Amino acid sequence: MRFNEAFIYTLREDPSEAELVSHKLMTRAGMIMKVSAGIYNYLPLGYRVIKKIENIIREELAKEHCAELLMPTVVPAELWRESGRWGYYGKELLRFKDRKENDFCLGPTHEEVITDIARRSMKSYRDYPRNLYQIQGKFRDETRPRFGLMRGREFIMKDGYSFHTNEECLDKTYWNMHAAYTRIFTKLGLKFRSVEADSGAIGGSVTHEFHVLADSGEDKIIFCTKCDYAANSEKASKQINDNFAQANNEIALPQDVETPNKKSIEEVSQFLKIPQEKTIKTLLYVIDEDKLVAVLIRGDLECNEVKLRNFFKGNIIEAADENRLLADGFAVGFLGPVGFKSDVKIAADYSVKSVIDGVIGANKKDFHTIHILPKRDLPDLEYDDFSFADKGDLCPVCGGLLDVCRGIEVGQVFKLGTKYSKAMNMTYIDESGENKTPTMGCYGIGVGRTAAAAIEQNHDENGIIFPIEIAPFSVSILLLDAEDKQAVEIAEKLYLDIENAETGIDALFDDRQERPGVKFKDHDLIGIPIQVIVGTRGIKSGTVEVKIRENATKESVAIDKIFEYVVKKIEELKRKIT
Ligand code: ATP
Ligand code: MG
Repeated sequence: MRFNEAFIYTLREDPSEAELVSHKLMTRAGMIMKVSAGIYNYLPLGYRVIKKIENIIREELAKEHCAELLMPTVVPAELWRESGRWGYYGKELLRFKDRKENDFCLGPTHEEVITDIARRSMKSYRDYPRNLYQIQGKFRDETRPRFGLMRGREFIMKDGYSFHTNEECLDKTYWNMHAAYTRIFTKLGLKFRSVEADSGAIGGSVTHEFHVLADSGEDKIIFCTKCDYAANSEKASKQINDNFAQANNEIALPQDVETPNKKSIEEVSQFLKIPQEKTIKTLLYVIDEDKLVAVLIRGDLECNEVKLRNFFKGNIIEAADENRLLADGFAVGFLGPVGFKSDVKIAADYSVKSVIDGVIGANKKDFHTIHILPKRDLPDLEYDDFSFADKGDLCPVCGGLLDVCRGIEVGQVFKLGTKYSKAMNMTYIDESGENKTPTMGCYGIGVGRTAAAAIEQNHDENGIIFPIEIAPFSVSILLLDAEDKQAVEIAEKLYLDIENAETGIDALFDDRQERPGVKFKDHDLIGIPIQVIVGTRGIKSGTVEVKIRENATKESVAIDKIFEYVVKKIEELKRKIT
């Protein structure tokens, strides 16, 4: 394609709100254009990258016998009411009414719609298993859309769903999809890692996220330096010491002391001159909007709300509202387990067991209790793991040292089980004529986020360095002297040879009337892997110059060998990836 036809408008300046390199570069390269917060135009150059990613996904899913379909973006509320999610899916679900006052939403994910399709089609055990997917625009009204395509409100997702009559079959498909995802992200040329993730309160479920490794990633990944264990921070566990710490000498009995206005752990530890590790904090949460629960955890640690939510088998967890607590008579800032309202369930993190001679809220305003020895004073609480694993903790699998890195979640595979099929009364008739509920898996990839993640991982000060498989064009031809007839002829010939060849190579032909410097800058910025530079000087000695974007190496190639050379270079770059 010729540069002007390709509709490429590069910018010199970074967009003012962009924090991430991928956001800056995609905008400056003329790949995306913001329409509204979290809503973007995919301009031709960006859309070529998206299409290439989609096609790699399609190729690999075909190997797993997945069938592609397309579901609507606008989904009637009835389906979401059937699954129950209309009630508890938060504000990310954009809800609206049509002219007849019927409720609808914009699909943020399509479990309900696919389950409806499947229950109307797959009535016999002979119809199983099936694996369906679509690549479609999703809408989630994210609180903080940011980072360009990384966290949009409207974004392109590949979402897939499988249906099975039994657990073994689901397990097999789950791991086949895991393998397909591994092939997809490998082929895309990315450094990535699959990590265990939280599957919510439904027991027995399994899920893995695929993360592109990048320091700018929003997610923290905990991994073992010795074995394969890796999990996201919500899920990650560590070796736990389940024993109460023993005191070497006798600890005085608990005693309430005045701590006027000292509410935070920092204030209390400074005031009482004790380290934060000797404090125990009591946090209150609301589960599923109505159940108040409390958790005790060592003052220097953060509570892992996902683990707490799962422990109490809830769907939604929120920190309790301070004003409401005060109105209900809770001594906010001085909370402790003693004399708590009996309907509030209390759990405690294992870390509390390590405290000796500690401090805890006295459950009355302006007082804390000192000389707490959990073994003696808090022996009957329900202890579990509510903290985060971190660098330096020990691996729960092999005992090796844990370390942390950052990642961008680009995909997730999930054993859903019967959550949707049961709620939506999906059944099939088994071999003996009985009605049975099928079990499901679901598999997502953020297509736009993957493009952005690829750029986070592959760029330099001059712009994007696209991995060959997803570059908008594999090769560009830069005609430096548009006045030089011979140069024009050579460049045109190479361009037409590539266009007409059956190699499937896509070339971007820059025949603009622009200065060489402008062209060099543009092609580096948009990240084309191979650049053929056709200029008067080289032609005089019978050569053109080939620049490889990733390492900026340049080579002179004889004019009559250039076509074969480009084909060979592209193959080389592809081989490097797989
Ligand atoms: P996150 O935790 O980042 O909000 P998620 O876990 O809610 O994502 P999933 O429901 O697992 O997202 O969706 C599947 C994939 O869709 C994700 O792995 C991610 O790559 C992509 N995705 C999710 N939300 C967005 C978004 N707001 N913008 C772009 N891509 C997204
Ligand atoms: Mg996810």
